[in-house]
Amino acid sequence: MQSTMLSAGDPIEARCTKCRKNTDQVIVTMAEGNPDKVRCGACGREHKYRPPTAAKRPSTRKTADHKDDERKEWKLLRPGMKVEKAADYSMTDPYKVKMLINHPVFGLGLVQRVVGSQKVEVLFEDGKKTMRCK
Ligand SMILES: [Zn+2]
Repeated sequence: MQSTMLSAGDPIEARCTKCRKNTDQVIVTMAEGNPDKVRCGACGREHKYRPPTAAKRPSTRKTADHKDDERKEWKLLRPGMKVEKAADYSMTDPYKVKMLINHPVFGLGLVQRVVGSQKVEVLFEDGKKTMRCK
């Protein structure tokens, strides 16, 4: 067991509720080997020690948010889609923006963007997917 051996007067990174972020703080008092009171080096406020918040991982969170947004977009657009106009998806067919397709796996989809010469971005109930086309 290795002790960090902190004591009053030591600098420590902690969360400051006033600054609303992790700041460099100084330990004012210790309690049972742990920081008790600390003073924020940024705003000078003394308060109870709060461990610094872990850095967020934006990449993974963003992906989840993105999916949510796409599902919301689907719900928003779904009432305006004329199902009877949807054509069965075939990668040998040409597609244009705003066309509706019926995919055997993903279901009803709305073509939203031509991505490349033979690819379109399609919004399905489960989110956007890039599909091959002619
Ligand atoms: Zn502060």
